[in-house]
Amino acid sequence: MRVLLQDQLLNRDEVAIDIEDRGYQFGDGVYEVMRVYEGQLFTINEHLERLARSADQIRMKLPLRLDVLKERLIELVSENSVQNGAVYVQVSRGVSLRNHSFPGDKVTPVLIAYPLPGKKPAQEQQNGVQVNLVDDMRWLRCDIKSLNLLWNVMAKQEALDKGTYEALLHRDGTITEGSSTNFYAVKDGTVYTHPANNLILNGITRMKIIELCSENGIPFMEKELYINERTSFDEAFISSTTIEIVPVTKIEEDVIGEGKPGEVTKRLQELFRKITP
Ligand code: PMP
Repeated sequence: MRVLLQDQLLNRDEVAIDIEDRGYQFGDGVYEVMRVYEGQLFTINEHLERLARSADQIRMKLPLRLDVLKERLIELVSENSVQNGAVYVQVSRGVSLRNHSFPGDKVTPVLIAYPLPGKKPAQEQQNGVQVNLVDDMRWLRCDIKSLNLLWNVMAKQEALDKGTYEALLHRDGTITEGSSTNFYAVKDGTVYTHPANNLILNGITRMKIIELCSENGIPFMEKELYINERTSFDEAFISSTTIEIVPVTKIEEDVIGEGKPGEVTKRLQELFRKITP
């Protein structure tokens, strides 16, 4: 496998991450996961912009210009002959003696990128999934795509241990998002999702879904959804780069709508399929 380290493509065994990398020690860094369809990076500009924003929010300078990074990522996909899959990009604040304070300008952030397998969850997309509720115990800057994913990891494992597909996080009675997905409910034909504030990650798939709604006359609103109104949802679904759009047919033991993927959800899946190769 070929791996991007800073601006160089190397073989995987030529890349070694230092024991004092701040990403490794503090989770001090940011990341992106991008989808590859038919050899093309999907919504690459949006992902690069979000990476730049995340870095800016944690006061870190990316080691490459975005246009150079874009070129290298395209080369990475091509050198690894990725047809359908994903690319992981991570930037840490770099290597320095372990100390909480920032290491200063002489230390260059460390960027790595490499391909990940990315298979669509076809079965789940078609049949829908069950999710379970987990307290949202994350910090209050969930808008930053940071490497600190401990609660996301804990919540996801709790969901899997209970035999469900995803953890639906809730804070003060409102549904924020999934452990690695955004959440939507449909009521009387309108699609609702949590406002893009500090409590959720503004998903690229979420932005595409909003665009698809507005271009196709599907009413859409950013609004808090409450866990105790879940039985009044006609439909629900989750989205991410990796899973695209997956219907939610059960929250805990409560059946959503008719317990099968709803019409608005299926329409959005179809519209999404049309914008991906
Ligand atoms: N929320 C969280 C917490 C996530 O980790 C992800 C996946 N990156 C998403 C939402 C969905 O974002 P995207 O559509 O950009 O993959």
